[in-house]
Amino acid sequence: MTEPIMDADDAIERALLDAELPPLLAALATATGDPALLPDHLRPTTVNPLMPQGGYSPAQQDEVRALALATLGAVRDGRLSFRQGPADEEEMPATGRFLAGTDAGRYLPLLIDEVATRDDPAAPRWRKERLAPDRRFHVVIVGAGMSGLLAGHRLGQAGVPYTIVEKNGDVGGTWLENTYPGCRVDVSSHLYSYSFLEHDDWPAYFSTQDVLLDYFRRFADRTGVRERIRFGTEVLAAEFDDETCAWTVRVRTPDGGTEILRAQAVISAVGQLNRPSYPRIEGMGDFNGPSFHSARWEHGLDLTGKRVAVIGTGASAFQFVPEIARTAGSLVIFQRTAPWLGPTPHYHAPVADGLRWLFRHVPGYSRWYRFWLFASTVEGGLPAVEVDPAWRDGERSVSAPNDERRALLTAYLEHLFADRPDLLRAAIPDYPPGAKRMLRDNGVWAAALKRDNVTLVTDPISRITDHGISTDDGDHDADVIIYATGFSASDFLMPMTVTGRNGADLHKRWNGDARAYLGMTVPEFPNLFLMYGPNTNIVVNGSIIFFSECETHYILECLGSLLRDGHRALECREEVHDAYNEMIDAANRRRAWGVSTVNSWYKNALGRVAQNWPFTLMEYWERTRVPDIDDYHVL
Ligand code: NAP
Repeated sequence: MTEPIMDADDAIERALLDAELPPLLAALATATGDPALLPDHLRPTTVNPLMPQGGYSPAQQDEVRALALATLGAVRDGRLSFRQGPADEEEMPATGRFLAGTDAGRYLPLLIDEVATRDDPAAPRWRKERLAPDRRFHVVIVGAGMSGLLAGHRLGQAGVPYTIVEKNGDVGGTWLENTYPGCRVDVSSHLYSYSFLEHDDWPAYFSTQDVLLDYFRRFADRTGVRERIRFGTEVLAAEFDDETCAWTVRVRTPDGGTEILRAQAVISAVGQLNRPSYPRIEGMGDFNGPSFHSARWEHGLDLTGKRVAVIGTGASAFQFVPEIARTAGSLVIFQRTAPWLGPTPHYHAPVADGLRWLFRHVPGYSRWYRFWLFASTVEGGLPAVEVDPAWRDGERSVSAPNDERRALLTAYLEHLFADRPDLLRAAIPDYPPGAKRMLRDNGVWAAALKRDNVTLVTDPISRITDHGISTDDGDHDADVIIYATGFSASDFLMPMTVTGRNGADLHKRWNGDARAYLGMTVPEFPNLFLMYGPNTNIVVNGSIIFFSECETHYILECLGSLLRDGHRALECREEVHDAYNEMIDAANRRRAWGVSTVNSWYKNALGRVAQNWPFTLMEYWERTRVPDIDDYHVL
């Protein structure tokens, strides 16, 4: 709810110093209906987040602030009023084009969907009681994380009965399980949120774990989804019955018993990063002290004064090491592969007071702000990770733009470690930017590594002993070992047994190499839909919540078509699935993560990239708008 403006000019002026100016103009123009607030000479020249304020010159910034002050002052003084109700959708394309440039033409439908003036344009446009009121159609969703909650909400909106089965005692998935100190998302808060439920008042530019968990909990409560969740219940097996075209889902109940649920469709929303991966290191069982995985943090264990060993320097370690380094007696970090660091000075910053004030007082500003962030991530860093086949330096960089990125990021590391050549040598990755997840950095990692009580070890671990970790250069005694060794991302849908048509076994079919059509459907497994399935992870562009929204839209469209046409099930055609996967594989081979030989969770044991989506967000959005029923056998 927008608050009335009561503040004096000088307070508004101060707030405007914190404003992101291009989307503010868009919001003011939308709220007042005055196109004069979008003059040609104030069109931003870029949406690149590395170029502040859309490339405005200082004089242009002053002009925008003056325009905004005049408008907000006029509203405060009653000389102008903001329009009531939703903004005019017909104005959206012009305003969107003003912000995102003429090239945005193709992206406009997607961008408008993301910042729609209506409350929830992506809500299903059908209801079961209209399409097939008497038909029994129940859906089982596996998992109550961000994706499963969304799927439940959408089914509820369509009037389709559903049950969510969740192994944990609460919602939130990864945001429930990962509670290590310093845990936060590395995608902007205004993007890492449902498009129809943005949060005007995010406390930080990048939300912390507790804030996100609270967001998902409140979503589950507010939408009524929580009431449909069976907590503490784990899916053991799901089996498709060829005769009835229905699924039998066997679950373990909280009391240890088993129960059968029946469903006409199953949606797996178990995610890719839900099963901690422990390394195989000789002697792991010999260690005398406590040890735990970062996703199973032992909060009861006080690390103050302890000798702590951390294995791994991925996204998780990167966040908790600076936190625990402050109190640990000593901290030894075992790094196998250095991460690239993306400079993000405001990574830990609270949202500036002035910006929060504007979100509260300018109708639609937070939406246009989201649009602005979104426009910069539609393609994101993809152009810089595309492989140039003529480029001959594959393990350093994959193209001229990638090499430029490398030079910039190396310069950043040189700046961070200027006073510590020993750490600098260890910090410069020997693989191309984009081959692994780049980590957002505001300097706290380097500061932690430079502490007197912290040691970075790059010698390979040879074994774990009863009193610590040994490498070729010696023994490192430890009281506690923390495994920050990531997740078994390639083990999609493990350890469930999933049996499809004619007794087909999903894991046998995959044989460690999971594939699906659009990441969602698999031949021989009718009416089984996967969310955050194979090849739907993004490395350098966008937010994974965007993918979940595309997936729920597509799944709901499929289910709507079944109910409308009186069919029982959709089964992906083998040839459609194969051609799609060939296209995905070919594209992934032309990305930095596909050609580099560096370790990463983006490749499965066979070396195939089974996780990543190699294209723009727009391409996934387009492919998931309207299911082509010809892609499916209709049962
Ligand atoms: P990860 O990126 O897979 O990192 C695992 C770390 O453990 C790597 O440094 C890896 O080294 C090391 N490792 C594994 N086995 C080892 C062994 N035997 N010996 C020595 N080192 C070993 O896992 P993660 O940090 O948990 O992150 C996983 C993903 O979760 C991220 O990429 C991101 O998508 C997501 N995540 C996001 C955030 C965020 O939003 N900020 C935070 C946490 C996680 P190698 O690199 O050599 O394999």
